[in-house]
Amino acid sequence: ATVLGIETSCDETGVGIVRGRTLLANAVASSMDEHAIFGGVVPEVAARAHVDAFVPTLRSALDEARLTLDDIDAIAVTAGPGLAGALMVGVGAAKGLAEATGLPLYGVNHLVGHIAAELLTSGRRPLEAPCIGLLVSGGHTSLILVRDLVDDVSLLGETIDDAAGEAFDKVARLLGLGYPGGPAIDAAAAEGDPGAFRFPRGLSLPKDLAKHRYDFSFSGLKTAVARQVEAFGDAGEALPVADLAASFREAVADVLTRKAIAACVDSDVPRLVLGGGVAANARVRELAEERCAEAGIELRVPPLRLCTDNGAMIAAAGALLVEAGRAPSPRAFGADSTLPITSAQATTTDAP
Ligand code: ATP
Ligand code: MG
Ligand code: FE
Repeated sequence: ATVLGIETSCDETGVGIVRGRTLLANAVASSMDEHAIFGGVVPEVAARAHVDAFVPTLRSALDEARLTLDDIDAIAVTAGPGLAGALMVGVGAAKGLAEATGLPLYGVNHLVGHIAAELLTSGRRPLEAPCIGLLVSGGHTSLILVRDLVDDVSLLGETIDDAAGEAFDKVARLLGLGYPGGPAIDAAAAEGDPGAFRFPRGLSLPKDLAKHRYDFSFSGLKTAVARQVEAFGDAGEALPVADLAASFREAVADVLTRKAIAACVDSDVPRLVLGGGVAANARVRELAEERCAEAGIELRVPPLRLCTDNGAMIAAAGALLVEAGRAPSPRAFGADSTLPITSAQATTTDAP
């Protein structure tokens, strides 16, 4: 089936088109620059930007695929999780489009989309099930066991405080790097020494592992970086930004990959798939490759531009629902800002 996917959960307006597992178009507009001066996404600004960007982004996706709406078999839209106001713009636009075209409409889970992005990797056979998924994004850091992305996902663990992407954004601010923090830290870290500072690996002590084997914590790491920044300030010394960035990035990559591999080994599932914006991180990708190779685990990572928010990943998730024979979402489905990763499809209505 040819599926058009619409994404508006945060600050990217995305429209993507897939045919089965083949990527036909991926148009993304971002309001990132408008948020940069605030150091983070401003929900109202993001929602307004989606209203402006939706139609042009839809047009450029159709142009890129050289298709018209007549060629589309189904529409998928992010129903959640995400910023409520931003989600509502996409859901409203998708409902209008479905009504006008008569196409079936699926409200899909944004997080399932992040994992489904990997399916669009060109020329590779799909990763066998079951597999372990590491979802690392701006709002989530979760380890999941995927028996079936549509019907059977279980949560093994998640962050107990900040998400990994959030930690990148906060630490970038501490280091005077721009927003979003992930790419800025990646660039700065390339010039630094990852062994310069030994930053904490959250929830990795034996006593923590007993209860939080697959959970993450990044707030202590952020505080440790803040203390170092203060110490250099107090001493009147220039900040060694590259070394701090490299050491921070190493701590995040180390704990993410260590716990993901532990989950694979413990569950006897030698397959790992990454998803989410932080999966674009150079060191996370490198360390995951190294450690998976050592442990005999097959690793799948989405192409870089499909790691951060986009419409193609939503179309891919929609295509899975269509393939699974799922009925379209009820007409009254709404944005669900807290939709859990265990629900691939939105079936609930807006809360009153
Ligand atoms: P969620 O998917 O949980 O709703 P989100 O949609 O805001 O959150 P994504 O678009 O998946 O998140 O990812 C954005 C996050 O990824 C930001 O926090 C950003 O800093 C981070 N990120 C992007 N590129 C990189 C990178 N190269 N290294 C580390 N982090 C990165
Ligand atoms: Mg974003
Ligand atoms: Fe996301």
